[in-house]
Amino acid sequence: MKRLNSVEAMRSFRRELEGEVGLVPTMGYLHEGHLSLIRKAVEENDHVVVSLFVNPAQFGPAEDLDKYPRDLERDARLCAEEGVQALFVPATEEIYPEGYQTYIEVTRLTQYLCGLSRPTHFRGVCTIVAKLFQLVRPGKAYFGLKDYQQFKVIERMVKDLHFPVEVIPCPIIREEDGLAMSSRNKYLSDKGRKEALVLRKTLNKARDALKKGVRSARELERIMEESVRSVPSARLDYARVADAETLEPFEGDINPGGTLFALAVYVEETRLIDNMVWSNGQ
Ligand code: AMP
Repeated sequence: MKRLNSVEAMRSFRRELEGEVGLVPTMGYLHEGHLSLIRKAVEENDHVVVSLFVNPAQFGPAEDLDKYPRDLERDARLCAEEGVQALFVPATEEIYPEGYQTYIEVTRLTQYLCGLSRPTHFRGVCTIVAKLFQLVRPGKAYFGLKDYQQFKVIERMVKDLHFPVEVIPCPIIREEDGLAMSSRNKYLSDKGRKEALVLRKTLNKARDALKKGVRSARELERIMEESVRSVPSARLDYARVADAETLEPFEGDINPGGTLFALAVYVEETRLIDNMVWSNGQ
């Protein structure tokens, strides 16, 4: 496996490649969630590039950029074991040199959910992903549905900017007890780790209510809010029911053809997200 540490190294590596190229963009500190994307990419492409880049543009000023966990050697070993051809690990100064001023913005899908509490997050995500698409020129790029809104935003950007890339959604990978895997789970104490189960439990309560026939968006959100409040140390950012395509809220009843249940909850200092999509009774 090659390690590519500069834009030029990435470009010249890419020039020599023939066949299908798959890209898996990550911020590193890999877990089974990332590995599920990598495995799918290895299965579906002749060559796979994994990028490891903790992207400052997608962190807000009070967020965890400086303490975001890193373990490059372990990540490199895991990628090599999975059959990845190249690890792209560019330097921040090369991606955002002095004088940098170009950003990509998806305007509407970013007005909801995480976009409200993290107003510059998605423009950071879109900017880095667009750069990666330019440099890696993948035929397919793999994104986890754990970050459902991110997936929809990237899908939109690809359509709007005519990127010749197929955006492949991958299911949420969970710990045995139901907690969605995340590099940020590492921040949790043992107590916090137990409290973090409130996210999965809350989604289960919404699912139970759906099974009982509840369809009012307001009532479903109320049930989710109440569930999060049952853990006093958990702090709710949002518990929303939204159209799974547009991410818009509902006036009355939810859309039976595709409804997103999305949660963002602080446990201790850590902001955790989770979601489920309910579609045609499933
Ligand atoms: P990150 O390193 O957190 O930016 O994540 C890189 C990619 O892995 C994104 O497309 C995420 O959606 C995906 N991912 C992270 N956690 C999970 C998970 N638990 N299940 C599936 N995909 C995930």
